[in-house]
Amino acid sequence: MIVVVGAGLAGLTYAFKAVKNGEKVEVWEKSQVLGSKPCGEAILYNALHYLPLSERERADVTLNSIKRVRLKFPNGLPERVINVSGVIVDKRRLLETLAEVVESEGVKVLRGKPFTRDAKPGRKHCRRLRFCKGHTCWGRNSRTCVKGLP
Ligand SMILES: Cc1cc2nc3c(=O)[nH]c(=O)nc-3n(C[C@H](O)[C@H](O)[C@H](O)COP(=O)(O)OP(=O)(O)OC[C@H]3O[C@@H](n4cnc5c(N)ncnc54)[C@H](O)[C@@H]3O)c2cc1C
Repeated sequence: MIVVVGAGLAGLTYAFKAVKNGEKVEVWEKSQVLGSKPCGEAILYNALHYLPLSERERADVTLNSIKRVRLKFPNGLPERVINVSGVIVDKRRLLETLAEVVESEGVKVLRGKPFTRDAKPGRKHCRRLRFCKGHTCWGRNSRTCVKGLP
């Protein structure tokens, strides 16, 4: 059993990869609502395509496309314009959609469930239990996950 702490983009993407890898996975999210963290909601095209979403799901969460970014600096430094390939997304919808996708694969996404120092998730499974945040796992079988694979 793998407990992923946090239903952000990293946690949900990792959960998807782990369940596809045959692991039993739970995601513990302390908030009741996904995506409550402030965010500019801009995401590079490649990053959006890395997520396990269908073409239609990607289109549903996309609000606009971005071709250029204007960078403004303090202290009189000159402005810069760089070309990028990205989109503006509705991040809450993106995370909700991602959560639905991982849930459809059998992952439990538990909202309002903070991971704390004294949390004892699934004690009976603790011989194989690993806690994951992003790509780093620790616990009894402590090791680092490379590119989200346990
Ligand atoms: C103001 C601001 C604007 C940004 N704008 C952009 C942008 O436009 N484009 C972009 O690509 N990036 C942006 N970022 C960065 C982006 O938000 C992060 O890179 C991204 O959210 C990281 O994803 P994550 O899944 O690692 O973590 P998070 O999105 O932070 O997700 C972590 C999750 O874990 C949960 N959690 C934390 N502790 C616990 C616990 N103990 N128990 C259970 N759950 C827990 C949190 O509630 C949260 O849902 C911005 C960041 C900020 C602060």
